[in-house]
Amino acid sequence: MENKLFIHNTLSRKKELFEPLNPPLVGMYVCGPTVYGDAHLGHTRPAITFDLIFRYLQHLGYKVRYVRNITDVGHLENDADEGEDKIAKKARLEQLEPMEVVQYFTDRYHANMDQLNTKHPSIEPRASGHIIEQIEMVKKILDAGYAYEKNGSVYFDIEKYSRSHRYGILSGRKIEDLLNYTRQLEGQDEKKSSFDFALWKKATPEHIMKWPSPWSIGYPGWHLECSAMGTKYLGEYFDIHGGGMDLLFPHHESEIAQSVAANGKEPVKYWIHNNMITINGQKMGKSLNNAVSLNELFSGQHDLLEKAYSPMTIRFFILQAHYRSTLDFSNEALQASEKGFGKLMSAMETLEKLKPAAQSTVNIEELEKNCYDAMNDDFNSPVLISHLFEGVRIINSVNDGKESLNEKDLILLKKIFNEFVFDILGLTFEGKSGRQDDLLASLIDSILEIRQEAKANNDYATSDKIRDELNKLKIRVKDTKDGAEWSMED
Ligand code: ZN
Repeated sequence: MENKLFIHNTLSRKKELFEPLNPPLVGMYVCGPTVYGDAHLGHTRPAITFDLIFRYLQHLGYKVRYVRNITDVGHLENDADEGEDKIAKKARLEQLEPMEVVQYFTDRYHANMDQLNTKHPSIEPRASGHIIEQIEMVKKILDAGYAYEKNGSVYFDIEKYSRSHRYGILSGRKIEDLLNYTRQLEGQDEKKSSFDFALWKKATPEHIMKWPSPWSIGYPGWHLECSAMGTKYLGEYFDIHGGGMDLLFPHHESEIAQSVAANGKEPVKYWIHNNMITINGQKMGKSLNNAVSLNELFSGQHDLLEKAYSPMTIRFFILQAHYRSTLDFSNEALQASEKGFGKLMSAMETLEKLKPAAQSTVNIEELEKNCYDAMNDDFNSPVLISHLFEGVRIINSVNDGKESLNEKDLILLKKIFNEFVFDILGLTFEGKSGRQDDLLASLIDSILEIRQEAKANNDYATSDKIRDELNKLKIRVKDTKDGAEWSMED
């Protein structure tokens, strides 16, 4: 099948035909979490969006190198150049080593991502493991004349850069507007201009995470890690860079400036940004007490939640909106997703039981084409899901005998559902282990019934053998006056 994939590029502000630089290889870099707290609803959108893109590109036959970093140093409070490091602050409050905080929340992040059934990235580099690469990049930017040192800190010189390049090329901001964006901050007098940003910061004596450099004992600026690690693992010019829209400015804008200054070229062909999640129409934020963590969502333990929502409900909820649209979280919306997901999965079970007929009364090839067209149109998952629901309608009609499918069409329909629901949307059956438990319980009950029959026929050899065999499997059998009870040893 001929697939022409169109991707909306934030840089050009339009949909472009996807033509990778070195097919079949595709390099994709996505900004990962700063690991100082549990993943919350806001983390799910980029994780699932870029998982969908990763899965679809792989489905089309590309070999994707997906790099998603872990920010474990240099991300200061309020995303600014002053203030405490987010991880160091958590470590100080909890009396832990910063790397203990990093390990603890990285493990929890991974567990949540597994629950959401997102595929692991190909490489997951940590900022603290790439201090040398970051220092080398600062040196290059200094050598090129786009940065200056002040009191052991190094700042990117936006004014100098703007004489020959456009800082604002990605976000569309103008330098004059930037002056309004930057706030007056303590210690800002080190910078020539308030919108310059730190490439390297000299550490104060109480600062915990610091390294030697040609300028001072200090730590890298937040924007630098992604430029350094992207270059290291994907090259100076690579295919896709993604992240949430909140990272567009100043983070990604500054990444472009750093790469242009250090390597003499823009780093990325296609920039992809997912939109944000709002809660009951409001922006998410700690001060608003509406930043719901994934663990709270899965357990239902938050004032805003009427009940617990399963990981696949959350995944389906996010996929039901196009990644570039806003998505409003509410209990009603999640309950609607839960229902929709249940309908889709029960149709998948029905599909397995359908029998072919001599003739087809519906066009399955058209359904397949519609599914591909949706994904090729900038990964339009809500439109894909609407076509899959047309498939659900067909499955249920065939099951009711109102429509029929010949063998070839039935095989194609199964292929469409397996590929689009499982491989591409990344949905899975939930409670599968629960069903296996149910199955196991009925199996043991049946075996014990046979044992009861044996006993009734005075066939004690068989009855004892069944009990002994079950004991070997650590299933204890206790005879009662009505038959037998069983329990499993831990
Ligand atoms: Zn980044």
